[in-house]
Amino acid sequence: MIHIDNYIRYCRNYSDQSNELIRDILLIRDNLDGNNRGGHLKQAYYAFFLFLERHSQYIETILSSPLDSPFDLANSNFIDYWKRFLRRNRNLINNELNFNIPTLISILPPSLGGDRMGGGGGSHPLKIIIPILSKFYKEIFLTEIEAKGIKARYSRKYIRTVRRDSKIVNELKFLTEHKCQICQKQFQTNSGYYIEGHHIKPLGNPHNGPDIKENIIILCPNHHIEMDYGILKIDPSNPDRVKHIDNTNPFHNVTISQRHSLNIEILRYSYENL
Ligand SMILES: [Zn+2]
Repeated sequence: MIHIDNYIRYCRNYSDQSNELIRDILLIRDNLDGNNRGGHLKQAYYAFFLFLERHSQYIETILSSPLDSPFDLANSNFIDYWKRFLRRNRNLINNELNFNIPTLISILPPSLGGDRMGGGGGSHPLKIIIPILSKFYKEIFLTEIEAKGIKARYSRKYIRTVRRDSKIVNELKFLTEHKCQICQKQFQTNSGYYIEGHHIKPLGNPHNGPDIKENIIILCPNHHIEMDYGILKIDPSNPDRVKHIDNTNPFHNVTISQRHSLNIEILRYSYENL
């Protein structure tokens, strides 16, 4: 799951700031109406994010509805799946993200799978977040898969494998703003930004590196190749910088930008063995 702050940042940078949903989301988040619904917004965000991870086939349905008005979840063709999702996860609590489904169920009306009777009218934050969240989800997690031409009709097993890998990589690409962490180059293409994720300890045999953020760095194609061939390395005793085998190279000793924490054992393995 991606932290709600990233979604809020996406909303604040949304191309159309006159979009009513964007205004409502930010109004609730910043509590400009004084109704203290920020917690509701957060619970709704994480729950629907998880729902999309399991039921991404509904994204296109959502996106085909107006993106500036609340989504009519209660009358959608997947409301039963949403309710089943809530029932199955009714004990789910995530302390790290301060998110839990029991709370969400207690604040949703029965039409949206909750058990709050006689709640007031108006739009629940859940209905407000859905359209933009689906767009956000699609742009961050699905763009790369589509760019590769991999469509849902192909093997489900394959899709799941690809999506699992690229989700972590795509999350990092988003956090690094699709810029190479060594040279900061950003490549705009017709289908969005292009940038690559490099596994410092490679996946698969014989290295069997893990597919976790601490093993990934975001790189442009040139620096990706240089790192693959050991021309560029990260010295575990100085993990904030990269070493180039040619110490006159402009990127020798350059600081890695926007660095998330990398695993020192992985860096050591890679430095000594690759
Ligand atoms: Zn680069």
